[in-house]
Amino acid sequence: MKNIIAFVIFIVSLNIVTAQESITSYPVYSGKDLGLTYTPKAATFKIWAPTATAAKLNLYKSDLGGTATRSIAMNQGDNGIWYITVPENLKNSYYTFQVNIGNTWSEEVVDPYAKACGTNGLRAQVIDLKETNPIGWAGDTSPNFSVSNKQTDAVIYELHVRDASIHASSGIKNKGKFLGLAELGTKNSAGQTTGLSHIKELGVTHIHLLPFYDYNSVDETKSAVQYNWGYDPVNYNIPEGSYSTNPADGKVRIKELKELIKTMHSNGLRIVMDVVYNHTALTKNSNFNILVPDYYYRKRADGSFSDASSCGNETASEKAMFQKFMIESVVYWVNEYHIDGFRFDLMGIHDIQTMNMISDTLRKIKPSIVLYGEGWTSSSSPLPEDKRALKKNAAQLNGIAVFSDDMRDGIKGSVFNIDDRGFATGNISNSESVKFGIVAAGKHPQINYSKVNYSKEPYTAGPAGLINYADCHDNNILWDKIALSFKSASAAERTKMHELAYAIVLTAQGASFLHAGTEFLRSKNGVENSFDKGDIVNGIDWDLKTKNIASYQFIKSLVQIRRAHPAFRMQTAQQIATNINFENNLPTGIIAYTINGAAVGDNWKKIWIAYNGSQTPQTLTLPKGTWKVGLSSNGSSKMGNNFTLAGSSAVILYGQ
Ligand code: CA
Repeated sequence: MKNIIAFVIFIVSLNIVTAQESITSYPVYSGKDLGLTYTPKAATFKIWAPTATAAKLNLYKSDLGGTATRSIAMNQGDNGIWYITVPENLKNSYYTFQVNIGNTWSEEVVDPYAKACGTNGLRAQVIDLKETNPIGWAGDTSPNFSVSNKQTDAVIYELHVRDASIHASSGIKNKGKFLGLAELGTKNSAGQTTGLSHIKELGVTHIHLLPFYDYNSVDETKSAVQYNWGYDPVNYNIPEGSYSTNPADGKVRIKELKELIKTMHSNGLRIVMDVVYNHTALTKNSNFNILVPDYYYRKRADGSFSDASSCGNETASEKAMFQKFMIESVVYWVNEYHIDGFRFDLMGIHDIQTMNMISDTLRKIKPSIVLYGEGWTSSSSPLPEDKRALKKNAAQLNGIAVFSDDMRDGIKGSVFNIDDRGFATGNISNSESVKFGIVAAGKHPQINYSKVNYSKEPYTAGPAGLINYADCHDNNILWDKIALSFKSASAAERTKMHELAYAIVLTAQGASFLHAGTEFLRSKNGVENSFDKGDIVNGIDWDLKTKNIASYQFIKSLVQIRRAHPAFRMQTAQQIATNINFENNLPTGIIAYTINGAAVGDNWKKIWIAYNGSQTPQTLTLPKGTWKVGLSSNGSSKMGNNFTLAGSSAVILYGQ
C-alpha cells in the first residue's frame, strides 16, 4: 500500500513538473496594446490566453444586469493573442471576455488591462480617456518637494481616502470620496483647518493614499455603510468606485481622482499610490486565472496555490507576462494620472529583478519618483529568498526603499506584543535599534549591530533605501500602542512619549513617514487591525487637532526643520558615517549625537540632538561652542554649558 501511494505521488509530481514547465514555455507577447485600443471609428480588443482554443467578446449596454447585446468571436493571433476589431464607435459600452479552454467556456472575465469599468468592476467599459481630464489637466505638474527632489527629502503622510473626510468634524461635504479630500478651506468645530488644507499646513511633501485601485471588499452600491482599507485588488488599472460619486459610469471615478490629484499638485503636495500586485482578491476565479489558468500565480509542490500574502494566493512577478503587467500598470498610472510614487505592499513577494525594472523604467519617465515597499512577506513563499525584494536584500534594490521595522519597534516596542515598550516608552534597551534607524540602517562605525532588535547587520546601500516611521495603518496606531503598553502613564506622560517618538522619526536619516492624524494623537480606540472596522474606529476626528494642538505644533515644527535642513536628509551612507557622531558615556536612557551640518551644506553648521527615553530628567554637558535651541520638548532647558533634558523629551540645538 505504501509503495502504491509513493508511486501515485511520484506520478502526480511528474505531472506538476510537466505543467510548470509547459507554463514557463507559453509564448510571450511583447506588444504594449493588450486590452482596449479605442478610437471613435473602431475599438480593438486584445487578450493573452495561450491555452484557449476560442475566445469571445461580450458587449453590454449597462454595467449590471441584462444580457449581452452581442457576443463576437475573437481571432487568434501569434504568441497566445486573441483579438477583435469592431469598426464602430463603442464609446460607453461595457464589455467582458470568455475563453474556451479544454472544450469548456469560462465564466465572463474583466479585461485585466481595462482602464474603466462599471459598478463593482464586473464589466469593463469602453471610454474615451480624454473625456476624463478635468479642466487644466494638461498643465498639471508635480510640485518640487525640495531643491533636488531626492527620495530622502520626502516626508510622507499615509492616509485613507475615506478616513480623511467621513467624520462629522471634518467639515467636508463629499464625505468618503476623492472629491472630499480635494475640498479646500474646510474646518473643524473650532475653526481649524481639516482635510487637504490641514495636510498642506502640516508641511509634508507626499500624501500616500491607501489602495485606491478598484478593490473587491466594498459593495459600491452600498458604500455609504461599508468600509475597507482595500488590500484586495480586482482591477489594477482602474480607480475604486466607492470613492466616486457615480460608480456606474466609468468616467466619473477617473475624472474625480484626477481632480483630487490636480488639487494636491496645485497645493504643493505629491501623491504616492499604495499598490498590491502581490496577490489578487480572488484566486481560482480571478480575471487572471480564468484567462490563463495557474500561470500568474506561484504554486506549491503539491499543485496548490502558495500564499505568501496570507490572502489566498501570491502572484508570480518572475513570470514574463505578470512582470510585464506590473511594469505597464505603474507606467500607466504615472502617465495617465501623474502619480508621483508607489508603495509596494508585501514587496518581499516580488522578485528583485522585476522591482529594479520598475524602478529603472519609472525613473526614466519621472526622475523624482519615490518608491518604497514592505521588505517582507506575510507567510512563506516558494521563490528563493535571495531572489526576492526582502529587507535583507535592500542593498540590491535600485532606488527603492524599505520600511524600517527595526526603528519602528525600537521606538515603541514590538507590534506583535501589546505589552512591549520601546525607547520612547521607557525601554532604553532599544537604544541601539533607534541609533541604527538614525543612520538609515547603513554602515556606521558606532553602531553595535549585535544589539539591534531584528537586523544584525546594515542592509541599506544608503539613506534613499530606508523609510523611517513609528506607526502606519497596520497594527496599533502610536497613541494606542503607548496607552496599551504603558497603562500606568498619565495622558500627559503619554503625550510626551508620543512627541519623543516623532522627534526621533523626523530627525533620523532616510525618508520620513507619518500615519494620518498621529500628528494630533489620533486614536483607533485600541483596535489593532482596523481594516474593516468602519468609520467609528477609522474616521479621523479633526477636533483632536484642537484638543492636542501643542503636539500638533511640535510635530509640524519638526517637519519644517527637517525640510529646511539638509543635515537631516543626507544622501549617501558615507556622508552619514562621516558626519554623524554619537556621544559616549551618557547617562542612562540618553541618545545624543552631533551632525556636521556644514559638511552637507547646511546653514546649521553643527547640530546637537538628544533624546531622553527615560522618565527621569538628565543633565548633559554640551560639546564646546555656542548653542541655540532649534526645538525642544517637555520643558527641557539650557543653562550655560549644560542642558537638562526632561523625561521623555527631545532637543535639537544648533551652532553656526
Ligand atoms: Ca470596487
